[in-house]
Amino acid sequence: MQSALHILEHVFGFSQFRPGQQAVVDAVMAGENALVVMPTGGGKSLCYQVPALAMPGMGVVISPLIALMDDQVRGLREAGVRAGALHSGLDFQQAQAMRNACEVGALDVLYVSPERLLNQAFTDWLLGLKLSVVAIDEAHCVSQWGHDFRADYLRLNEFVQRLQSTPVMALTATADARTREDIVQLLGIADAKRFITGFDRPNIQYRVVPKQKTREQLVKFIRQEFVEQCGIVYCRSRRATEELAEYLQSKGIEALAYHAGLPQEDRLKRQRQFTRSESMVMVATIAFGMGVDKPDVRFVVHVDMPFSVEAYYQETGRAGRDGAPATALLFYGGHDLVRAMQMISEKDAPEAVIRADQARVLKLAGICELVSCRRQALLSCFGEQSSACGNCDNCLTPAQSVDATESAQRALSLVYRTQQSYGVGYLVELLLGKNDELARQRGHRDLPIYGTGKALNEKQWRSLYRQLIAAGYLAVAPHGSLHLNETARDILRGDTRFHLRLETQSAKQSSRRAQMAPHTSERFEVLRKLRKELADEYDIASYMVFNDATLIEMAERLPTTYGQMLAINGVGDKKMDKYGQQFLACLRNLEAAAS
Ligand code: ADP
Ligand code: ZN
Repeated sequence: MQSALHILEHVFGFSQFRPGQQAVVDAVMAGENALVVMPTGGGKSLCYQVPALAMPGMGVVISPLIALMDDQVRGLREAGVRAGALHSGLDFQQAQAMRNACEVGALDVLYVSPERLLNQAFTDWLLGLKLSVVAIDEAHCVSQWGHDFRADYLRLNEFVQRLQSTPVMALTATADARTREDIVQLLGIADAKRFITGFDRPNIQYRVVPKQKTREQLVKFIRQEFVEQCGIVYCRSRRATEELAEYLQSKGIEALAYHAGLPQEDRLKRQRQFTRSESMVMVATIAFGMGVDKPDVRFVVHVDMPFSVEAYYQETGRAGRDGAPATALLFYGGHDLVRAMQMISEKDAPEAVIRADQARVLKLAGICELVSCRRQALLSCFGEQSSACGNCDNCLTPAQSVDATESAQRALSLVYRTQQSYGVGYLVELLLGKNDELARQRGHRDLPIYGTGKALNEKQWRSLYRQLIAAGYLAVAPHGSLHLNETARDILRGDTRFHLRLETQSAKQSSRRAQMAPHTSERFEVLRKLRKELADEYDIASYMVFNDATLIEMAERLPTTYGQMLAINGVGDKKMDKYGQQFLACLRNLEAAAS
């Protein structure tokens, strides 16, 4: 039996376990059940892959998405692991060959889709084999109502109960305590040791920018920071994804649209193209979700505001799974907040549900309006305390705010004077003394407040109203009319001061390229080219050769000997054999050029 550390070094090429991984591996290898909660990109897969390789028998991984499974198997094989998968995508002969391999002990890791385990004959067969560990990935599926895979996951309990001494692991990135307890209860592993790591994703830079001309802003962002890189752009509507993808293409940026309205085979095909690509932008609705297991997504952009912090955090978490720097950019402002609040208020749902949904939107809006560290605020939503991060826009370029109490009073009292019946657009016109005719008809032309707000321009007034909504002083009713909340009185009376966040254009950009020294960035590009050639030659995704984090380390450290190369994170024995010479030759050239 090889030690876990030996496997970590030689198979995966990593010198150390990450915080959290070691304890999980130790517990599982000691035969204990485990619940592992780690953020996306935290390194959950190693937690079961290492024990599966270190212990006698075959590790079984239950994973819901066939497309992902095949990629994972492929990636493992690249590292020299004897991995395979059994799922409904195989024909009879393929499945038979796979079963034979399992029976003769030729596999270390077998991926299985959950519905397979509903089949009695299949579980009988599986339980007849020597198993090292059973890992249930995406374990939150068992808990969430209406989840696509919930029925299959619930039935896993029966399988788990039939396992004798094989340790069971449930893994998820889902944070909340209720889901965690549901998982262990519903899977029947109440004794599982809990391993919960923090939710921070330090390599993701969080940024919020004022939404103005979204398309132009987006093109500029990609051109300045992410030329020929992969990213996801989330939009609210299907049509928007198609239009935006087309626009990006017209600007010479490789882009595809993805949404639930596309035929299933198109969706699969596009997802595959994206996974393989090194330079594609996927413009998608939230239908592009759990199946996105691409480690080198360098940015996630939200063109429209998501409906909750949880959704936002999960979606941005798809960036930078490989641990290399990545960016999450949210366009915020314009009519977005009002529209979101209005959409919710017009839903056919009980008052309490509408309130709760609006509160979720406001929580995210509050984070968008912050002048302090955004990561700190995001993490506190998940019950985590942290200090200012140094890697969000507010930390990098401190935002400005001014006391705007008087303007806020004016804005609020206008809502009151107009019987709380109008939306932002009209109210701003009144403040600026515009739309004379309509104001006259409605009897607002003679309000003393009419036309007294010329000290601010339209954009500033809109921003002020938005911030009053985000801070909960104003509510948005159906049709977008604004209402005063109880707390508005504190401002009107002057008991509470109101600070307005000034909109700055964009924070100091520090994408990966900007963070790298210029010569490192040039070398990285050279290495990237070689990687692409090799990936094409072997017909695999580039990240399966080496991921971005590994290439960056090579570009920084310029290894030129066999030993130095092996010391790079992500360079294991098998990959050294397969690609080492070519990368060493390339690096030696780079070194010669440098000296
Ligand atoms: P998760 O399943 O939690 O989303 P993964 O298992 O895919 O995360 O791991 C994310 C990335 O972190 C992968 O690129 C992986 O190679 C890398 N990684 C995992 N463990 C380590 C480690 N101990 N040292 C260096 N990199 C690691
Ligand atoms: Zn910060």
